[in-house]
Parts: sequence; structure tokens; C-alpha cells
Amino acid sequence: MRRRTAGPLVLKFGGASLADPARVLRTVRHARARGRSVVLVVSAREHVTDLLLAATRRPHDATGHRRLVGRIARRHPGLPSTGPRSLDRLAGLLGDLERNGRPDAPTADRLLSQGERLAAHWVAATLRRAGVPAVAVEADHLGLITDNAYGASCIVLERSRGPVRRGLRRLLAAGRVPVVTGFFGRSLEGRVATLGRGGSDYAATAIAALLGAPRVELVKRHVAVLSADPREVPRTRPIPELSYEEAEELAQFGARILHPMTIEPARAHGVEIVVRSLDDPAVATTIGPGRRGRRNRAVTVLRPLRLFRLRVPGGRQRPGIVAEVSERLRRAGVNVVQLFTSSALLCLIVAPTDVASAARVLRPITDDAAAVLEGPVPVGLVTVIGDGVLDDLDRLPAAAVRGAEGFSATPRALSLAVAERRCGRTVRALHEALVGPR
Ligand code: ASP
Ligand code: MG
Repeated sequence: MRRRTAGPLVLKFGGASLADPARVLRTVRHARARGRSVVLVVSAREHVTDLLLAATRRPHDATGHRRLVGRIARRHPGLPSTGPRSLDRLAGLLGDLERNGRPDAPTADRLLSQGERLAAHWVAATLRRAGVPAVAVEADHLGLITDNAYGASCIVLERSRGPVRRGLRRLLAAGRVPVVTGFFGRSLEGRVATLGRGGSDYAATAIAALLGAPRVELVKRHVAVLSADPREVPRTRPIPELSYEEAEELAQFGARILHPMTIEPARAHGVEIVVRSLDDPAVATTIGPGRRGRRNRAVTVLRPLRLFRLRVPGGRQRPGIVAEVSERLRRAGVNVVQLFTSSALLCLIVAPTDVASAARVLRPITDDAAAVLEGPVPVGLVTVIGDGVLDDLDRLPAAAVRGAEGFSATPRALSLAVAERRCGRTVRALHEALVGPR
């Protein structure tokens, strides 16, 4: 008798890793041969989301749209009977765009979701041709429910649990391999809502959590999680293990390899995440409950950002000044990326797109007191991540810290705000000192 573990294995393939369907097939067969039931989650094929996004910015370019459909069709060779329907759907949506002009956020999300839909139908058909009983599943129809924050929505796990479990378990019980679209779900008001760029990882961990899967594997084409972005640092190394908390800091502090929301569903439901390289399966990062050690260090950089300095003489004597600043920014919809304070100086870091709103709501504070607002200063946030990082404070290179705009640290993450032009140097210096060579 074949042994079955508690839940299925959830395998997510990123856009670039779909370039080699034979590898996808081998991975699925391998898991099934070990008696595991498998759920696949797929991204759009590489560059497809970018192309669709470009179309939303040129809504009336009918010639460009026709070329786009051709390019996308070529990326999904041998689409089966369900496929042309999807391509028709794409052509139809582009036609709407030409007639109606710039789309609102939910309409744009509906168009962006076509990349994953095509990929799911294409992968399922490819697997079926090889004898694997795969079936494409579109996440909005399945009932993966999100909030209404189009373009950057969050999955509502409680609302999704019933429909996602029922739908996928029915297919698994029938011996099928569901191929689920990543990147989007159905909003509370019933429209298509995307999760933000790179959101298929997040969809995969959420689906794994909803199914009670013991493990989700995020298959990337080239690399797993590295100690730094190889474009910034010449000698990076793969990180074998991370705690959920470390991985979450990593994703939030700008490591482009993981969508910022990826970790939360897995942490909440104890699902182990394995980030694996398709090119080199021995290179993998396991993310799970707390682990400790120097081997899990990483340095990230988040930029471009803008820093404001708010000088409030006698700041500590004014109860609620931090709350007032935060509240004003919250009302203006400004996200504070980082906040450093001393007694009379508050340093706030925001995204460049939030600069105008932040300045507008902070300026009135300077009217009533002798407060002064300075900035925006172009900065980047360089962060060293890894449990116990504060134990190594003595190894922080003085040259990297000198001239920094601010500093903040917890036992797990240490961030320096530095002038934007110094970011590259700072990342390399911190990597050298606190992560070390391979
Ligand atoms: N296709 C989407 C993107 O390019 C989602 C993903 O790849 O995870 O952002
Ligand atoms: Mg991707």
C-alpha cells in the first residue's frame, strides 16, 4: 500500500522555471512516484506580466496589442482546446482596453491575471500529454479570496479555507494534479485582484497553509536564497536555513527573491518552505521554525527611498509627538518604511511615491512649534539579517557607519540608512564584515 503523508506537496514554479517543461514533469513524476499527491502553483511565463503591464499603459495601441497576443501565444506552444479560449479572452480584454482607455485598478488586474491563466492551462496540457492527469484551476474561480486592495491585495485565509479545500481535495481524491494559477484571487467584492509583483510565491504558501500541507517548494530557475543580491555583492553564498522570522525580515527588507507576504501563511500554519534552484537542485534554502547560526546571514538593500528629518525642540517634552506624526501619515495613506528617533529628532523614511503626501501632512506640525522639517534626502536602507546579529556589533566596519543618516536594530535585523550613492559600498562592506566570504 502506498503511504500518504497528511497533506499534499505544494510545488510552485516561477515564470523562468517554466521554460523547461520537461523538468517540471520530472519533478511532478518524482513526487508522485513517492506516493505524494501534488498541487502545482504556477506564475506567468517569464516577461508575460511585464508585457501585459505595458499594454495597460498604452491602452489604445491596437497594433502593439496584436503583436503582444502573437508573442504570448508563441510562449505557450500547443495550447489545448481550453487554451485558445484563454487567448481569445486576452484578445477580448485588449479590445475593451482600446475602446475604454486607461483601466481602473480591478480592470488592470483582470488583464494582468491572464498570464497565469495561460500558464496554468499550458502546463496542465503539457503534463496531460505526458500521461499525468493534470487539470488547470483558476484561483478566482476556485475561491481564493483577497481583500479589495487591487494590485497589492492580501489573501483572506478564513474566507478562502472552505472553497479552496473543497475544490482541491475533490480533485486530489480523484487522483488528479491541480495546476493552480498564482498571483491573484477574487476580491471580497467579486473582482480579480492581484497580489503584487512576485505574488505567486505568496499564493503558493497560502494554498499550502489552507490545505494543511507539510511543505511547499518554491522552485526558482537559477538560485535559491543568497546572502546578498549577486548584482550588488561579488561573492555571495547560498543560505541553507532561515527561521520564518528571518525570512520575513529578508522579504520585507527588499530581497527581491521572495514576495513580502510569502512567509506569513506558512508561519501561521507551520508549513515548511523550501526555496529550490531548478538548475542546481542541491542548492536550497529551508525556511521553518527557529534556527540559529552564522550561516543564515544576509544583507539586503532597499532603495530608492526618501528620508525626512523632523526637528522638534523639546520633543520628548511633547507627549504624543510620535503618535501625531504616525497618525497624520496613516491618514494620508503613507507607509513609514523606517523610523529613527532621538530626543528632538525624528527621521522618517518613505517611498519616493509618498514624498508629496508625507510633506503635505508633516508641514503643519512645523507651524505651531519651533519644529523644522528637512528633506526629502535620497537614501537607501541597508540591512543585515540573521538571529544574533547584535552579538556581532563590534565587527561593524566604522567606514560603513560613518555619515549614516540613522541606525536601527533588533536582535534579528540591523538597518543603516545611508545616502543613496553610498548604498553599493555599504552593502559590500557589511557583507564582507558580517557575512564573510563563502
Ligand atoms: N507573474 C507575476 C509577476 O511577474 C507573479 C509572479 O511571477 O510571481 O510578478
Ligand atoms: Mg516571477
